[in-house]
Amino acid sequence: MKSFVALVGGALMAAAMLATPAAAQQKGKVGVSMPTKSSARWIADGQGLVQALKAKGFTPDLQYAEDEIPNQLSQIENMIATGAKVLVIAAIDGTTLSDVLQQASDRGIKVIAYDRLIRGSKNVDYYATFDNFQVGVLQGSYIVDKLGLKDGKGPFTVELFGGSPDDNNAYFFYDGAMSVLKPYIDSGKLTVPSKQLGMDKVSTLRWDGAAAQARMDNLLSAFYGNKRLDAVLSPYDGISIGIISSLKGVGYGSPDQPMPVITGQDAELPSVKAIIRGDQSMTVFKDTRELAKVTSDMVDAISTGAQVQVNDTKTYNNGVKVVPSYLLKPVTVDKSNWQKVLVDSGYYKAQQVK
Ligand code: BGC
Repeated sequence: MKSFVALVGGALMAAAMLATPAAAQQKGKVGVSMPTKSSARWIADGQGLVQALKAKGFTPDLQYAEDEIPNQLSQIENMIATGAKVLVIAAIDGTTLSDVLQQASDRGIKVIAYDRLIRGSKNVDYYATFDNFQVGVLQGSYIVDKLGLKDGKGPFTVELFGGSPDDNNAYFFYDGAMSVLKPYIDSGKLTVPSKQLGMDKVSTLRWDGAAAQARMDNLLSAFYGNKRLDAVLSPYDGISIGIISSLKGVGYGSPDQPMPVITGQDAELPSVKAIIRGDQSMTVFKDTRELAKVTSDMVDAISTGAQVQVNDTKTYNNGVKVVPSYLLKPVTVDKSNWQKVLVDSGYYKAQQVK
């Protein structure tokens, strides 16, 4: 009897195992449109999404557009034409997708804006991201703490860098940081010698590190001939790396002329190494594994008709509607906690950061 039960049980299990892939296939294709492979974070995002979607039985179609808007448009059109059920899109330029999203909507395809809000279209169903304002708050607060501004120290000099003006997130990062820095700028404890303030003056098209490096070169030669730069607000690791090169070019990073406090975002490997070396002060880690999980849960809920989990229905107005969002928590990483947050959690292997 026992062996019969075992046999039947075994047979049922084998049947179930055989049945899973067949059932999984039926969940359909999901288009995943990522902006560029030039930044490691988007590679990790793509891999994370593919894994999470496959595990749930979807067939992901992952495409990178190399920061060219026409590429992204034709890749999405192709996903629609080849039968995607859901689109997950991290836009290059958040305002350029209205026509292609109308095509998607006409075919009943749901759209999730991934990390970056898609603006100006009613055909954006959900938004999965991190608390973008908080990213800026973490960056600004780090500068305040490290300079000792709360203890009344100062005045200190700071220069501000913003992200890409076509990316909605860039304004949230800048506004979050300025919510913390502005009171000190107003009181004179922080000065901006270049007087370049506001996204119209400090943005960096396509988050380009080389452009940031060139701007830092200009700022250093025009305003810091006989002045020390104490802090740099940088919104993204790739930009921080450009800024660091520029600073090294004029002698920062030595015992007599230590690096300014420099922020960043994404915990990309070159920046984690720069933090360990002492060139960059901090980065904001956004766990792409969690974002992939939240997004694949959304895709699953959409495809089964279940309720999609969101935790914010107020913040992200895309100009046409408020897009229901799920916001994850960003985390400050510096030399005190990189090991615990990035290595012990399995995000990076120990040898990758050496
Ligand atoms: C993302 C950041 C990233 C930046 C540059 C933003 O939209 O939220 O994580 O640093 O793009 O790729």
